[in-house]
Formats: sequence, structure tokens, C-alpha cells
Amino acid sequence: MGNLVNVILVMLVLGCVMGLILFIASVAFHVEVDEREEKVTGMLPGYNCGACGYPGCSGLAKALVDGETDLVSCKPCKPDQRAAIVDYLNNATGPNGEKVTVRSI
Ligand code: SF4
Repeated sequence: MGNLVNVILVMLVLGCVMGLILFIASVAFHVEVDEREEKVTGMLPGYNCGACGYPGCSGLAKALVDGETDLVSCKPCKPDQRAAIVDYLNNATGPNGEKVTVRSI
């Protein structure tokens, strides 16, 4: 019976130590996520064809959010999709409160 209690205590201590290590790692390696990238990725056609010159729709979404390119580079994107993305990006703010101006044509 004494061995069982010791084993349970060791497992509890190990669990607490591992949990603490994971917590510290999550704080130390926290990456700020710009939610606009995910939103724009979902608004793009999703073909991941690479015709825009980026490795998939998420690559173009990141470039758009970073203000590096215009939406014209996505050829499969329909006019209503372009308008929605431009409207969203021109009004949404990033994690630091910054905005980006995107051109659709
Ligand atoms: S061209 Fe458009 S559909 Fe193709 S990968 Fe780029 S963003 Fe996606």
C-alpha cells in the first residue's frame, strides 16, 4: 500500500512539474497571430493553385495583410470576393491597431 501511495505522489509531482514547464514554454514562445490572415485566407477561392506567385492562398493572405501586394494577383478570385476582401482589409485593424490599404483592380 505504501508503494502505491509513493507512486501516486511521484506521478502527481511529475504532472505538476511538466504542467509548469509547458506553461512557461507557452508564455516564452507565444506568437502574436494576426487574425486578418486567417479571415482573408477563408475569403480567397481556396484553390491553392499558386497562380498568384505565393505558396497557396494563405501565402497571398499574409502578403495582403502585410501590404506587400494587391488582390489583382489572384486570378481565380471573383469580383464579389475581391470586393469583400478589400472592404474587410480596408476596415479591419491588426493586433497593433494598424490598417492596410488594398487595391482590387
Ligand atoms: S491565385 Fe488565388 S486561388 Fe490561387 S493560390 Fe493564389 S490566392 Fe489561392
